Amino acid sequence: MIEIKNLHKSFGDLEVLKGIDLTITPGEIVSILGGSGSGKSTMMRCINGLEGLSSGSISVDGFDVSNKKELQAVRKKCSMVFQQFDLYPHLSVLDNITLAPINVLGENKVDAKERARALLMSVELDDKANVYPAQLSGGQKQRVGICRALAMYPDYLLLDEVTSSLDPEMTAEVLVILKKLAAEGITMISVTHEIEFAREISNRIIFLDEGVILSDLPTEQFFSKDGGKAEPRIAKFLSKMGE
Ligand code: ADP
Ligand code: MG
Repeated sequence: MIEIKNLHKSFGDLEVLKGIDLTITPGEIVSILGGSGSGKSTMMRCINGLEGLSSGSISVDGFDVSNKKELQAVRKKCSMVFQQFDLYPHLSVLDNITLAPINVLGENKVDAKERARALLMSVELDDKANVYPAQLSGGQKQRVGICRALAMYPDYLLLDEVTSSLDPEMTAEVLVILKKLAAEGITMISVTHEIEFAREISNRIIFLDEGVILSDLPTEQFFSKDGGKAEPRIAKFLSKMGE
């Protein structure tokens, strides 16, 4: 379970998160929506300790992200995939995927490679194991990024606008993979602008506005007229997104 309690986060004078309370239980598929600058990425980065908290607390299965001794455990549980596929350019696809399992989890090389190949197979990139990131399309890089995250056996997969820099065709490639993962029962927290995708895969939608949670509803209710859409800010956001 991920438990966020009264999270505040400021950068200098700018208060970006203004008291977030959120609990995510295993098996949930949660989509985070909200306008640009509302604090979505900051919240995601706080969850796995990439940003320190100004106040409040976050725990992941009981491990406190603000406790240096427990941060490693938090990071093992939460794998994050970013908008910019941050693959290591000097490593092959296979080595990108096996690096952390070998160095952080202490997995042996043979097992790590075998698992990496199986993951690549699941995203239909088994023929790309030995190429370098520069030889991949954006969609392929992002699929490798997802494999790299999954190679850590995460309990929670955190996705921050993973399709934002992709064209529609490559976006579709990546969404297919994420839908498959969601159906397999992984716990997923996904910041996305793909409203239809969010609607299709999520059990729950969180709408963030200027650093507060404006709405936290089951998906169907979020999209209903007397649910999320009753909130003018959300209705406006959704209509801008073509909903
Ligand atoms: P979103 O992901 O919802 O677009 P972000 O969480 O990236 O929003 O950013 C929220 C606000 O925090 C923005 O005003 C952004 O400029 C600011 N911000 C984010 N990261 C930093 C940082 N490292 N230093 C200063 N300001 C930041
Ligand atoms: Mg962002």
